[in-house]
Amino acid sequence: MRQKKYILPESEIPTAWYNIQAIMPNKPLPILNPKSRAVLKPEDLYPIFCEECAKQELDQTNEWIPIPEAVREQYAAYRSTPLVRAYELEEALGTPAHIYFKNEGISPSGSHKLNSAIAQAYYAKQQGITNITTETGAGQWGGSLSYAAKKFGIECAVYMVKTSFNQKPYRRSIMQTFGAAITPSPSMSTRAGKDILTVNPNDPGSLGCAISEAVELALTTPNCKYAVGSVMNHVCLHQTVIGLEAEKQMAMAGEYPDIVIACFGGGSNFCGTAFPFMRHTILEGKKTRFIAAEPTSCPKLTRGKFEYDYGDEAGLTPLLPMFTLGHNFKPASIHAGGLRYHGAGVILSQLMKDGYMEAQDFPQTETFKAGILFARTEGIIPAPESCHAIACAINEAKKCKESGEAKTILFNLSGHGFVDMGSYDKYLSGEMFDYKLTDEELQQYIASADALNK
Ligand SMILES: *Cc1c(COP(=O)(O)O)cnc(C)c1O
Repeated sequence: MRQKKYILPESEIPTAWYNIQAIMPNKPLPILNPKSRAVLKPEDLYPIFCEECAKQELDQTNEWIPIPEAVREQYAAYRSTPLVRAYELEEALGTPAHIYFKNEGISPSGSHKLNSAIAQAYYAKQQGITNITTETGAGQWGGSLSYAAKKFGIECAVYMVKTSFNQKPYRRSIMQTFGAAITPSPSMSTRAGKDILTVNPNDPGSLGCAISEAVELALTTPNCKYAVGSVMNHVCLHQTVIGLEAEKQMAMAGEYPDIVIACFGGGSNFCGTAFPFMRHTILEGKKTRFIAAEPTSCPKLTRGKFEYDYGDEAGLTPLLPMFTLGHNFKPASIHAGGLRYHGAGVILSQLMKDGYMEAQDFPQTETFKAGILFARTEGIIPAPESCHAIACAINEAKKCKESGEAKTILFNLSGHGFVDMGSYDKYLSGEMFDYKLTDEELQQYIASADALNK
């Protein structure tokens, strides 16, 4: 019988995360203090983040960062996640390509985000922190942090983007089940929220705005730190457990990927999947294509600009050198809530600039079509975010059919879609629409970042 699923024995689960900063030919540009423009030091991040995370954020020398024992114990509850050969999908497409996917949807929170939530909650506990706060879009990150905080005995407060709060009530219940307190954002509980609601009382919210609210709470509450679900270097670091496992699992299958694909919100599941493989490209000249799959309506990598910008809408974060659509970008209300973010991680932005990776964009109806084919062939209903990676993998597999090349494609299935059936309903009943930004709108949004680079 053909082997379909690859699982690692516990002794093979990674004991260190991979820090690609240590080997990058061009290091990322420095992160800057928004007021003084001074290069940021770890201490500058201590008011917001746990100290260990702040150090990891700016570490450009240590290639391997040990995974603490207590974190590995929590990982053991669901890792390794399976690597699966998608034979049925290959057959449905009639492609000679070998398609593999890494299934992060089996985690207790249903997505890859738990990999970093566990690490951040652990470091907070270590440091004597009692309260942790964050934002969440689709609710995946909030659910992950709620669970991780509970595991380490910390209180968790989550600002949830208002559109998602209304569209995805079950994600809210999941967070409450795990014991977190949830506030829809924008809210009147912070200055950042009040400012936005005063201009537009019906503001649907955005990740940028929710970040502003959570950071403000962390800065104004004693013994409270902010935890972040994507974009930042330390988050991408924690996610490398995905690619490190996948590398070993691909070896079990006797393969090495020609193409590595992940969907793209701020970059954490992409970086986590790609970087362990990309190290062989940088160090040994291996030829692998790395493709970030983003929504057409939020095209930071395909149409954004590389320059300094804020990570949040209110301009509370340091200035990050990254591909951005401008910090006041207002994304369309697409169903892949976790991809509605204006910027991209600093490390991958540099790697993108240096030609180590590429990006493609997909309209949401195409992604749901892909997700449904995947569900019918592989038996897993994917998260709307993950549907972008599937659409991209299908695209590449179809190209293989045309050219007759049997390429090996690996994509990350970042999460399952059981709590996203409302979105599937919309697609299935023909009530889902695509959004595209005009060049004019794009230029207007990017101007908010341009202003910071004068
Ligand atoms: C949050 C999320 C994403 C996007 O975030 P990245 O940091 O870009 O990985 C993708 N898929 C799922 C299931 C998510 O929850």
